[in-house]
Amino acid sequence: ARSLVWFRSDLRIADNTALAAAARRGTVVAVFLRSLPHWQRHGHGANKLDFWHRGVVALSEALAGIGIPLLHRDIDDFDEAPAQLLTIAREIGASALHFNREYALDEQRRDHAVVDAFRQAGLQASGHHDSVAYAPGELLTGKGDFYAVFTPFARAWHRRLSAAQLALRDTPEPQAPLPLSADPIPPLPKPAQAQAGARQWPAGETAAADRLERFLRFRVRHYADQRDFPAVAGTSELSPYLALGMISHRQCLQAALGENDGSLAEGDAGIVSWVSELIWREFYQHVAAGFPRVCRHRAFQRHTEALAWRDSEDDFAAWCEGRTGYPIVDAAMRQLVRRGWMHNRLRMVAAMFLSKHLLIDWRRGEAFFMRHLVDGEFCANNGGWQWAASTGTDAAPYFRIFNPTTQSRRFDPEGRFLAEYLPELAGLAPRDRHAPSDTQRASTGYPLPIVDHKAARARALAAFKALPPSH
Ligand code: FAD
Repeated sequence: ARSLVWFRSDLRIADNTALAAAARRGTVVAVFLRSLPHWQRHGHGANKLDFWHRGVVALSEALAGIGIPLLHRDIDDFDEAPAQLLTIAREIGASALHFNREYALDEQRRDHAVVDAFRQAGLQASGHHDSVAYAPGELLTGKGDFYAVFTPFARAWHRRLSAAQLALRDTPEPQAPLPLSADPIPPLPKPAQAQAGARQWPAGETAAADRLERFLRFRVRHYADQRDFPAVAGTSELSPYLALGMISHRQCLQAALGENDGSLAEGDAGIVSWVSELIWREFYQHVAAGFPRVCRHRAFQRHTEALAWRDSEDDFAAWCEGRTGYPIVDAAMRQLVRRGWMHNRLRMVAAMFLSKHLLIDWRRGEAFFMRHLVDGEFCANNGGWQWAASTGTDAAPYFRIFNPTTQSRRFDPEGRFLAEYLPELAGLAPRDRHAPSDTQRASTGYPLPIVDHKAARARALAAFKALPPSH
């Protein structure tokens, strides 16, 4: 039998559940549907689209290596997906469609429409569970609810994990050539082109595998101690690859197991801590599936919908452009814009600064991040923003507001990260870079703080205290 495999954000041939299932049944033809208008409407920026594009090119080459042609179609919107896929299936004589499921609301709707259309046409369509260890709904609290708190989720995740969940799916054996050639991947139109720094992320599963290997060889043992220091390359920087499926969570977890005597829950502190971050990724996918209101721009904690966010275009622009006068926030924002990536510690600091110090709606920050991140992924981004804004699952309590200057001294003690992204401050003594004096600001051209930490903190606390009770 012949199957069509629809690739989306699972751009790899190794350990791919849908691809492996299709290859077991017979010959395979692959397809990628690209809807730039849809992705742009959903806030994906040029950096991610460029990385995605390069990932599809790499996927096409990898598939060609095992005799599978990748077809490519540009569509205006995913409403067209059912008809497009059916047409292709008929043209190539495929009796089944396989794809890996995605759990945010829009993606689930898109996939249901495709499955319905195939069933009505008398063809098979199978959505496989692939992106995280447990399908949403498989891991529930004792009361049968989705978890809204990370720690018990992680405990249950470890307790119930089986070897089968982590078993790598077979990479298909090369198939005999088909009388069908792969489509060339059309380049992105000019306006969609990415920042130079964002283009430096090499795309594809080989690049991802190299990165994982280097991380395990050189960084993971120090991960627990170094992961919070943005001047140190202490984390895996695998997020863009995980977000587009150029590497799978199973490949990451298997590699971690191999380095840690077969355990994910105890043993080497670096590995255990890294695995915990991978579980955060899974947690937020479950949150999006279990509480779909978060996919509709709603706060997880309903009572926070009443919060009186400030409208200040000037403050928002200062934050976006890295000129708030708080060096750690500004350096973070410049890293985001320049590299299409920001260190996790800084994502927390920058997001909290926007939502608490500036009291600007977290949704604006979420959208700005999405527009610049190479690793922009709805569930993690939304989860991180709602955490910082104290509107989410297991969020930071509203009264715990980071002092950006303290964070800066603690996590960039030598001011190295600040000097890298704020060259105007590099001439100051490291200890002065965290909060330059007015004279130093005047002489370096670095702006004065746009808000005073204490006053801003008091304003945020008052806004949260004015909310109706949560239950
Ligand atoms: P590592 O520390 O090596 O972690 C390994 C992997 O675990 C990451 O690649 C990522 O897939 C996952 N991970 C780590 N931390 C988290 C977390 N807190 N939540 C969910 N997954 C996590 N991550 C994204 O992948 N895409 C986003 O759009 C995104 N937006 C964020 C927005 C905010 C406001 C915050 C606070 C966090 C966000 N994160 C996002 C999570 C995290 O910051 C990044 O995953 C991490 O910085 C990526 O670097 P790394 O690959 O070196 O991570």
